Amino acid sequence: MARIVIAGAGLAGRLCAWALARTGHAVTVCDPSPDAQPRFDGTGAAAFTAAGMLSPLAEQEQGGAQVAAWGWRSLALWAGLVPALRPAEVPFQRDGSLLLAHRSDLGAAQRILALIPGARALEADALQTLEPALVPSLHGWLLPGEGRIGPVAAMQALVQAAPEVDWRWLCPVQSVSPGLARLTSGEQLRADWIIDTRGLGASPNLPVRGVRGEIVTLSLPGHGLQRPVRLLHPRHRVYLVPRTAQELAVGASEIESEDRSPVSLRSAVELMAAAHSLVPALAEARILRLDRHLRPALPDNLPMTHHEPGLLRLNGLYRHGWLLAPALVEQLLQTAGLAALHALADVPMEAPTPTSASASASTPMPSPTSPPAPLPSQHSPSTPSLQAP
Ligand SMILES: Cc1cc2nc3c(=O)[nH]c(=O)nc-3n(C[C@H](O)[C@H](O)[C@H](O)COP(=O)(O)OP(=O)(O)OC[C@H]3O[C@@H](n4cnc5c(N)ncnc54)[C@H](O)[C@@H]3O)c2cc1C
Repeated sequence: MARIVIAGAGLAGRLCAWALARTGHAVTVCDPSPDAQPRFDGTGAAAFTAAGMLSPLAEQEQGGAQVAAWGWRSLALWAGLVPALRPAEVPFQRDGSLLLAHRSDLGAAQRILALIPGARALEADALQTLEPALVPSLHGWLLPGEGRIGPVAAMQALVQAAPEVDWRWLCPVQSVSPGLARLTSGEQLRADWIIDTRGLGASPNLPVRGVRGEIVTLSLPGHGLQRPVRLLHPRHRVYLVPRTAQELAVGASEIESEDRSPVSLRSAVELMAAAHSLVPALAEARILRLDRHLRPALPDNLPMTHHEPGLLRLNGLYRHGWLLAPALVEQLLQTAGLAALHALADVPMEAPTPTSASASASTPMPSPTSPPAPLPSQHSPSTPSLQAP
């Protein structure tokens, strides 16, 4: 059994804590938040604000084939982790997602689709059968195997399922070094391992920056949307993610700014107008929440894992945290010999294969789990991008 201190109770920190506690280690987690609950005020963990899209195919467009490989591995791990978190009910679905375009925007959509060879074009009646709530005149493409998870439920479940962890709230960590976490209070915590998962809070120790994202939560009982959909539009691209039969998330802006102030009128109008153009019944939806947060991103917009004796780091999850965290946590804890996430999730282990596309990882990356559609090659950075998760 090792003594482990984790700095940061966001997505990466909670997943590490749960896996390590289940493996029998003595785990302390320090976080500045007052408790484990979401605030929706731009503070605490970005993970609470996320839409929870699990989109390895669509995210290739920005992250490349390696992000897709981690994404497929994470999808397989989430499928085992969600049942392991019971009795908590964590929404999780792998029924695919849809790319959509209005007829007038087909040209712009085709340029993006060229980067996503796994997308399968749908006939109009097939699209209507899959998603009757959509306006009938759309073009649609299916991204098979993609999914979604309920971020708030998953974040809460990870804490509830690890009562043996010493969760320390109102406890910011000032700096970390091998075997030592210095708290802002002046207290020093010594351990066999320190794990730094502070996200944006790791700045300036890491060159991490915040990328602002804004998202709207709507309520419309019986909205009918079954799976995540993304609109391909030259200016106003948007996604809708069903959370429950009543609730949907509409997101998200992506702004190079560390401004945590409330959602702007421009973003709110653009997101909701685009969403209404896809699902006309949303005209009667009620706005439950306008939320914003900062995605923790490294200069190359790729995640990093770091491993040295006594110190592990995971950061730079940017717009893909829910998509990538299980695969990266699996690799990080396995490399340090601390835990086997796949065993806890009852998912077969993957044979590690060398890859060249990791950002700054100091350890080998997992190989891709076979996706249901072929992975494309890297793309040109000059092409239009999908709306951000
Ligand atoms: C609008 C929006 C939509 C998104 N949608 C998606 C999506 O659909 N799919 C997807 O995969 N990803 C999505 N993301 C990205 C995802 O939320 C992030 O990648 C993920 O939350 C990063 O996880 P993390 O644990 O690294 O950081 P966080 O979740 O931000 O957690 C960091 C934690 O560190 C704590 N901390 C900060 N400073 C300190 C300190 N000094 N000491 C100790 N603890 C500290 C914080 O309080 C926080 O709890 C979205 C993000 C946004 C903003």
